[in-house]
Amino acid sequence: MYNLFRNLYNIKIAIFNLLDIWGKNIMRQITKELIQKYNIRLTKSLGQNFLVDDNVIDKIVDAADVNKKDIVIEVGPGIGNMTRKLAQRAGRLVAIEIDKHLVPPLTEVLGEFPNASLINKDILKTSLGQIINEEKSKAPEAEAVKVVANLPYYITTPIIMKFLEENPGINAMVFMIQKEVGDRIVASPGGKDYGALSVAVQYYSKPERVFDVPPHSFIPQPDVDSTVIRLNVFSEPEVKLKNKDIFFQTVKASFGQRRKTLLNALSNSKKFVESKEEIRLLLNKLGINENARGETLNINEFAQIANLFSERNS
Ligand code: SAM
Repeated sequence: MYNLFRNLYNIKIAIFNLLDIWGKNIMRQITKELIQKYNIRLTKSLGQNFLVDDNVIDKIVDAADVNKKDIVIEVGPGIGNMTRKLAQRAGRLVAIEIDKHLVPPLTEVLGEFPNASLINKDILKTSLGQIINEEKSKAPEAEAVKVVANLPYYITTPIIMKFLEENPGINAMVFMIQKEVGDRIVASPGGKDYGALSVAVQYYSKPERVFDVPPHSFIPQPDVDSTVIRLNVFSEPEVKLKNKDIFFQTVKASFGQRRKTLLNALSNSKKFVESKEEIRLLLNKLGINENARGETLNINEFAQIANLFSERNS
């Protein structure tokens, strides 16, 4: 009996493996045909590495738990491989693509989805509030707004920060990015990857790594490994700040000179009017070791320092 179950189990695994290979090959074939049909020349400078692994696409869409009650924004739909799945599962989908050469294939892919629209624009020059308002007027019954994107790696950080800073009511963000940037985003104090980017993203959200993606899941293959992260966005930041600009300046100054102590890094920065002695007193008052390095401080400690700076500057 045990042998029978073991054999059945092995057959099941073999079938799943075959389906997996089939899924990858079909997606690769569809991609190549669309590229050929529309005579697309892939532009490296726009970060055009298209996902051709069906399984990876399903896992990304699952990570955002996309469903019919969602308005989904996709940045950089490319040739539309993930866009197709998002349109199938979302209530509404809006895809924003900078490259005008990709409009014809995307129009073909999205032709069968009346719930989807395409905007041919640079995401960094697009008002998220305006897009979301327009989408909400088309789908007043929608309950959540989500962003799902395989980001162009040359502008990963500006795009993520735009979504976090501008955030006009987005509930969940799932991004595929280069692994090295993902490591920095999810890093905790004390580690080598912890820096200004970790603090900035963790001010707005609780980031988590979902899974890693190898280069062979794309055509053409990128030079780097990739990872998928989910940003669980806070409705209100957990850290209370008196002045957001001063907070970010403090963080930047603390990490600007990584080998310097916190006291030296903050007093060398021209941002703050305080003398070195004043900064020493202020750190002592907060119980923060002046010889500590910026990378050992947690976000609450940065906020405490920045809030004292803000009081002095007000
Ligand atoms: N989503 C597709 C996929 O997974 O196969 C393509 C992802 S590819 C890594 C990044 C896409 O973003 C490309 O289609 C590129 O043209 C587009 N892109 C690059 N810069 C952009 C920008 N500033 N605004 C909007 N789209 C951009």
